[in-house]
Amino acid sequence: MPNESLKEYVISMRRYFHENPELSFQEASTISTIRKELEGMGLEVHEVKEGGLYADIQGMDGGKSVALRADMDGLPITEDTNLPFRSKNHGVMHACGHDAHVAMLLGVAKRALEMKSKFRGRIRLLFQVAEERPPGGAVSLIRAGALKGMDYVLGQHVISSFEAGTVATFPREAMANADEFRIRIIGKGGHGSAPHETIDALVVAAQFVTAAQAIVSRMIDPFLPSVVTFGTFNSGFRYNVIAPSADLTGTVRTFHREVQEKIRSELENVLKNICAAYGAEYQYEYSEGYPTVINTQEISEIVDSVAEEHLGKGKVLHPNPSMGGEDFAYYLHEIPGTFYFLGVGNAAKGITSPQHSPTYTVDEDTLEKGVEIMLGSALRLLS
Ligand code: MN
Repeated sequence: MPNESLKEYVISMRRYFHENPELSFQEASTISTIRKELEGMGLEVHEVKEGGLYADIQGMDGGKSVALRADMDGLPITEDTNLPFRSKNHGVMHACGHDAHVAMLLGVAKRALEMKSKFRGRIRLLFQVAEERPPGGAVSLIRAGALKGMDYVLGQHVISSFEAGTVATFPREAMANADEFRIRIIGKGGHGSAPHETIDALVVAAQFVTAAQAIVSRMIDPFLPSVVTFGTFNSGFRYNVIAPSADLTGTVRTFHREVQEKIRSELENVLKNICAAYGAEYQYEYSEGYPTVINTQEISEIVDSVAEEHLGKGKVLHPNPSMGGEDFAYYLHEIPGTFYFLGVGNAAKGITSPQHSPTYTVDEDTLEKGVEIMLGSALRLLS
């Protein structure tokens, strides 16, 4: 088995990173482990503050250049698996598979180095910090020149909702624009028995949350996907006291700039008018998160054909885009490329927990395929 050692290497690295997860912007030990691995392979490493690190593998003269990205941060989740390599860092967990991303990109490095006299062009390995926490690490890497001289960029993300042995690609939109809003409604508190002397912020907020449901359903073109979700609603402190204020937070997911702007302004419009009807005041804060991930169709099609060679016919899926967010979007603002999913679920092995859950894990037997598909797609783009 000529590839057995690569497979073992990738799995052992994945287990190491899984056991030692770190939160966004705190990935010091992950970075030093990656650096040690890359330097052990003879590569020169460039480190970027709050960005991560990158290294180049130079093939023969000529050819194009392709950047391959792996993110490396864990999540503030307490792992609830019985894996022998479960997190040793209590309260922190690789619950989005970024451990597997780093391990696979290290595997790509090993394999690409073995064959660097057989391809033209340059492969750049981008190991990025802090995907899970805006502003994210991608912006710092880009600002430091990590995409300088690159023609294309590829991002591969493991996903447990698709079975091992499949890949899911997106011709254009892959992931949504993910924004955050924070609202405070300010009324006038008072005795629960004398509502006429108060402005009940809780009642105003309840009406606002209900009215805001009409933004997506009544004000946005049904052919343009969008979500408005209220995640928290905090108001009041005692059963017989009228709440003086209410605090709400939520997220807006869209794929188009004009829809994003429309929802941003309609939320405030509905808020302003409902508050006015009751004499309440408000504060409204809206922060734009990661923009929409928009792929280049021809490059998605290259991944399709490489993945089909490795996985077989019918194993390349084209689902609807995800309403999740990803800072890979920023790379695609700079150069053409594609972001796609590698299926790592396996119902027969009981690997079915969703991304970001405390029992999340991946089917490790598929990671070697992930290396081959990423490298194979890069080689196709180089020539
Ligand atoms: Mn992720």
